[in-house]
Amino acid sequence: MTSHQSIALALRARLDELTRRVGELEAELREPLDADFAEQAAALQDDEPIAALESAGRDEIDRIRAALARIDDGSYGTCATCGEDIVPARLVAVPTAVQCAGCAGATRSHRA
Ligand SMILES: [Zn+2]
Repeated sequence: MTSHQSIALALRARLDELTRRVGELEAELREPLDADFAEQAAALQDDEPIAALESAGRDEIDRIRAALARIDDGSYGTCATCGEDIVPARLVAVPTAVQCAGCAGATRSHRA
């Protein structure tokens, strides 16, 4: 088994877990509001972090799906910006990385 295949296995397990968790968060967000106004206000406040978690989970699901697609098409582990190999240690730390550490750092400082 190549290292990318073992990363794919780990990513699929993570994807399953995230899909389940986002489903639970969605179910919680869909719960009808309590008739009591105070409860309603509290419930609305509670929904904000849940919505943030759900959206973060969806973002990660998208990144994992993209990484799995890159593993399938053989482009995984190659920097999308400079075309160099991404060092294995970085892929272990950030399995969904699309850029090498150098390019990711450069992108971050351009954005900042
Ligand atoms: Zn690069």
